[in-house]
Amino acid sequence: MEFIKAKTILTKVKYGSEWYGIDYNMNLYRGCSHRCIYCDSRSNCYHIDNFDIVRGKENALNILEQELCKKREKGVVGIGAMSDTYNPLEKQYEQTRGALKLISRYGFGVSIDTKSDLILRDIDLLKEINLKNNVIIKFTITTPNDDLSRIIEPNVCVSSKRFQAIKKLNDNVFL
Ligand code: SF4
Repeated sequence: MEFIKAKTILTKVKYGSEWYGIDYNMNLYRGCSHRCIYCDSRSNCYHIDNFDIVRGKENALNILEQELCKKREKGVVGIGAMSDTYNPLEKQYEQTRGALKLISRYGFGVSIDTKSDLILRDIDLLKEINLKNNVIIKFTITTPNDDLSRIIEPNVCVSSKRFQAIKKLNDNVFL
């Protein structure tokens, strides 16, 4: 995976808690390889070259830890607004898993937007965070039809797998 330089990771979100239930936002990766045909994040207005190629952010976890340490307000950190943080490279690089460990250690909450059932790998950490702060998980289900899902969202698990993931998260994280 290619890495790009990052000076900051966390961004304070204006009106985030009223509108989305989050106080901070972060994207641990740049670009997304799920190739959803309707994705607006690849729009030119966001200036992300080669959007379909996922790049990591250099020292992302060190920067994140320094930023979490300094925050007085233990708010909810949103992940995945511009890039699904559970892309296939996450299996190997575990940037998201590393970030969840830090979020738990420093007592923050988390809100994740995803379409991938790879999130199930991190049930242990989500459960841990939920004991101390808020956990919000948002799955996009565009269609209940798996054949259609394979066409419009070709590089991520089909909708039926997402429904199964929601059930598993509900049964294991939000007890
Ligand atoms: S998962 Fe989200 S960011 Fe990734 S391609 Fe699909 S719509 Fe775009």
